[in-house]
Amino acid sequence: VRTLVLVLGDQLDMEATAFDGFDRAQDAVWMAEAAEESTHVWSSKQRIAIFLAAMRHFAQTLRDAGMPLTYTRLDDAGNRGTLAAELRAYLSTLTPQRVVMTAPGDWRVWQSLKAVVENAGLTLEVREDRHFFTTVREFAAHAKGRKSLRLEYFYRELRQRHKVLMQDGAPIGGRWNFDADNRETFGPEGPGTVPARAAFPPDAITREVIALVESRFARHPGTLASFAWPVTREQALEALERFVEERLPLFGRYEDAMWPGEPWLYHSHLSAALNLKLLSAREVVHAAELAYHAGRVPLPSAEGFIRQILGWREYVRGIYWTQMPGYADRNALDAVFDLPAWYWTGDTDMACLREALSQTLQHGYAHHIQRLMVTGLFTLLMGVRPQQVHAWYLAVYVDAVEWVELPNTLGMSQYGDGGLMASKPYIATGKYIERMGGPCSSCRYDPARRTGDRACPYTTLYWDFLMRHEKLLSTNARTALQVKNVARLSPAERDAIAQRAEAIRQGQVGIPSSDTAETT
Ligand code: FAD
Ligand code: SF4
Repeated sequence: VRTLVLVLGDQLDMEATAFDGFDRAQDAVWMAEAAEESTHVWSSKQRIAIFLAAMRHFAQTLRDAGMPLTYTRLDDAGNRGTLAAELRAYLSTLTPQRVVMTAPGDWRVWQSLKAVVENAGLTLEVREDRHFFTTVREFAAHAKGRKSLRLEYFYRELRQRHKVLMQDGAPIGGRWNFDADNRETFGPEGPGTVPARAAFPPDAITREVIALVESRFARHPGTLASFAWPVTREQALEALERFVEERLPLFGRYEDAMWPGEPWLYHSHLSAALNLKLLSAREVVHAAELAYHAGRVPLPSAEGFIRQILGWREYVRGIYWTQMPGYADRNALDAVFDLPAWYWTGDTDMACLREALSQTLQHGYAHHIQRLMVTGLFTLLMGVRPQQVHAWYLAVYVDAVEWVELPNTLGMSQYGDGGLMASKPYIATGKYIERMGGPCSSCRYDPARRTGDRACPYTTLYWDFLMRHEKLLSTNARTALQVKNVARLSPAERDAIAQRAEAIRQGQVGIPSSDTAETT
């Protein structure tokens, strides 16, 4: 073998840079399924299944294209359990002249594979990932010399550089951002009929993976009955087409809205296909832009969607690769509590959390506002150690790869980086969840109350958070006003809030059998 090309589970792209110059006569591809990738965090069944199913389909594509491939299956006898051990064994029998890969999405994996290759006396050639619009170097150049990083400036630079939604050097519509026109709620009448999700019934390869996951990872969280994610490039393209046609027109308007029993709403559900590289970021952005120009999608929706991909997705990748490895350990708010055990089961009497957690375990999916303002908000307000929150998010979602999950969780949602990613902690009471369409009317708690048996845990913890972080919040211009309200609380009220917050942290509130243990 002249060149050995390493392909990881989130690099399923025939156009990847690692394949540049590939010669079927002399080169080979290496892929391996390793149990460690499903156990280093306690991965959900949906997440394990999507990776394995997509990898096995991609392996088939490589074979069909006549590319020499070494592929170790999880259930192969003698599977060594880790990517590093599998690669080490390969390199000890077959010595390629060089080893090449596209830049991986996880610091841990990159470090371990690099060490294996170097110990074998070779160098690992890591190539730029052209799936993305930007390189980490470009992000670092943008970030250099700036006191704080904000998405908006980076996004504008990218719009200009890549001429996306631009006309004569100016943003189409005269504005960079149409948030003010977006973000409506469904109102009391609800969303009505939402288009059905683009679902892909499992074929023989995927069914085999599902059976494997059910037996090998039986005790891992979640269920697989609803598994219908796109796992091939063809399916991913179909999912993109259906999204643009059926959901994108209303994407912007209902971007932040929730509704009980409606997990999919007007979101794209394309994050997993994008992160596995079944779709390129460019083709997704291009499809949205084309639909706008064809008059099929209003500008605020097209712009709002494009900003998520051209903006946020590129931005968080830059943060991850410029801040790792130290980033994963940050804990700016000194949060020390444990993640409630019911995050892994959904067994709570808080209706909004029960809904978001059950849906997550059932489908491996929750939309952004559920992740940020339901599951993430609760752990932030409670003061859960960000590393535990990170391990949960990395485990449960089908789109979870560390480069995108970590900055979103530790930075945006938990403020663990002290404001690098978000300009303020995203905190709110239960009233926010109610306003955005949360199931408060069927919940045993009342979002307007902060103390007493019926007080919504979010609302109690919000006030407790303001009290605990009063000093920090008063020095931030974006939260100074919010925290001023704390001064109006009487000492008795402060005590009552602190006591109930403590009861929530101790697990005496929030679990279904908690009726008797509450404080007032
Ligand atoms: P849509 O709402 O349709 O958005 C379109 C696309 O934009 C997404 O597919 C995604 O590729 C991109 N996007 C949107 N928001 C973000 C963002 N904040 N950062 C990066 N890309 C974004 N996204 C992941 O892909 N993997 C993760 O592991 C992940 N973890 C998250 C953890 C937390 C705590 C939070 C608050 C957000 C996380 N996100 C993550 C971002 C976002 O919530 C998901 O990308 C989105 O919900 C996926 O659903 P969708 O494809 O329907 O997205
Ligand atoms: Fe969630 Fe509070 Fe509303 Fe219940 S009352 S659904 S806990 S926000």
